Amino acid sequence: MSTLTRAADIVGAAHLLTDTADTAAYTTDWRQRFHGRPLAVALPATTGQVAALVQLSRDTGTPLVPQGGNTGTVGGATPDASGRALVIALRRMNAIRAVDRDNATVTAEAGCTLAEVQAAAAGHGLLYPLSLASEGSCQIGGNLAANAGGLAVLRYGNTRELTLGIEAVLPDGQVIHALKGLRKNNSGFDAKQLFIGTEGIFGIITAATLKLYPQPNARATALVGIDSPAAAVALLHELHDRFGDRLTTFELISGQCLSLVAHHVPEVRLPFDCAWSVLFELSDGGEQAALDAQLFDWLDGRDAFVDAVLAQSGRERRELWRLREEISEAQRRDGPSIKHDIAVPVSAIPAFLDSCGRQLETAFPGCRIVTFGHLGDGNLHYNISHTRPGNTALFDDEQRVNEIVFSCAYAFDGTLSAEHGVGQLRRHWLARFHDPASMSLMRTLKTALDPAGLMNPGKLL
Ligand SMILES: Cc1cc2nc3c(=O)[nH]c(=O)nc-3n(C[C@H](O)[C@H](O)[C@H](O)COP(=O)(O)OP(=O)(O)OC[C@H]3O[C@@H](n4cnc5c(N)ncnc54)[C@H](O)[C@@H]3O)c2cc1C
Repeated sequence: MSTLTRAADIVGAAHLLTDTADTAAYTTDWRQRFHGRPLAVALPATTGQVAALVQLSRDTGTPLVPQGGNTGTVGGATPDASGRALVIALRRMNAIRAVDRDNATVTAEAGCTLAEVQAAAAGHGLLYPLSLASEGSCQIGGNLAANAGGLAVLRYGNTRELTLGIEAVLPDGQVIHALKGLRKNNSGFDAKQLFIGTEGIFGIITAATLKLYPQPNARATALVGIDSPAAAVALLHELHDRFGDRLTTFELISGQCLSLVAHHVPEVRLPFDCAWSVLFELSDGGEQAALDAQLFDWLDGRDAFVDAVLAQSGRERRELWRLREEISEAQRRDGPSIKHDIAVPVSAIPAFLDSCGRQLETAFPGCRIVTFGHLGDGNLHYNISHTRPGNTALFDDEQRVNEIVFSCAYAFDGTLSAEHGVGQLRRHWLARFHDPASMSLMRTLKTALDPAGLMNPGKLL
């Protein structure tokens, strides 16, 4: 029996896509930088079907590519062009298996979108705090495999911190049943960590048990203008000292970003013009008026800002957030850019920006750097949109730009990716910059668990 016939027997013929028109949505990554050609796209509906597909892969030497919402930006879920790989798209595995209100956990299948999990939690008066602009499309399996971060990592942590349990199929077809919603469990190896942030190279996640939190009743949001990234780091410490873990988000935005937003999204109004801004939000379970008053008093007592705006209503809050949310779209409308999502320790951010900016300016006089991101957790989106006048052939300069940016991030004890991962895009850079012993450990584990290299080949390692 052929591989395709066996795959169709497992998932049902209607759920095995082979026509180019049907598979097209699964063969190109979100940024359209990677294009593949699969043998087929299989849409399993149960963990048993996933395990059977993995067994089929072993029997026939067929590579597998797990795929969630396909919103990743590094080509991690895109098959190669050989026409040999089977894409395993999890979208039919979209049941919320349980919400345990007293334990504050949700157990969701891998193909649930992030928005569906947020809604399930909200339906029980709880919060699943992971929040990404892609939340309507990205899936829980993809969130775990990419260890997604987003806007509220400062307070709640990234997906690794939010995951308590996992169900996953190993490359040998065994199913790990570890969906316990325990916050304490010292009984040996924590199997879920093998799958979180490892981009599907150690197996296919089929479900996860995730932490939930009380829904905040009050949110106070402010945009402050400052003169330097060092002032932003100082502000972060002061806010933490005063408001503790009620500080939920803390976003650094360069004046360049806001100029792009003003130019490309004219309906958005800039409250002020400043070299740097910080958009931050506090949240808690108390009264809105009380939180607003506390933040107002704190802002009122300070003279370290060039300017400041405190949202007075839900509408004003949304307007402030729109400034941040439109940056990516404004950049897209402005043309291509070489994107990075580096991280360095928060304390090193001013020095990183200074050093990396100088090195890029020396190599590419007049280059344009668009910087914004989650300063509260050390992660910056550091994008280069012009390397020379006219911006022609930007990507011809990508290797040299990356060399400078990644070298600089590692020089400050940072990393080449805090959110988007390695995938195909940064594989050779990881091998270059990552600690050799850690690389060797990853390769040893990969060889031990997947000796034939069939699980998401060509990604990460
Ligand atoms: C507009 C936009 C905004 C974004 N904002 C953020 C952000 O703020 N923070 C952030 O961290 N990311 C962000 N992302 C990136 C992306 O949305 C996240 O990485 C997300 O977690 C990917 O989920 P997905 O389901 O789309 O995964 P996919 O893109 O389908 O896959 C991502 C990786 O996970 C693997 N994978 C997928 N499902 C499984 C599974 N079930 N088992 C094993 N491996 C699997 C794939 O093989 C691939 O390597 C953004 C993307 C977009 C387009």
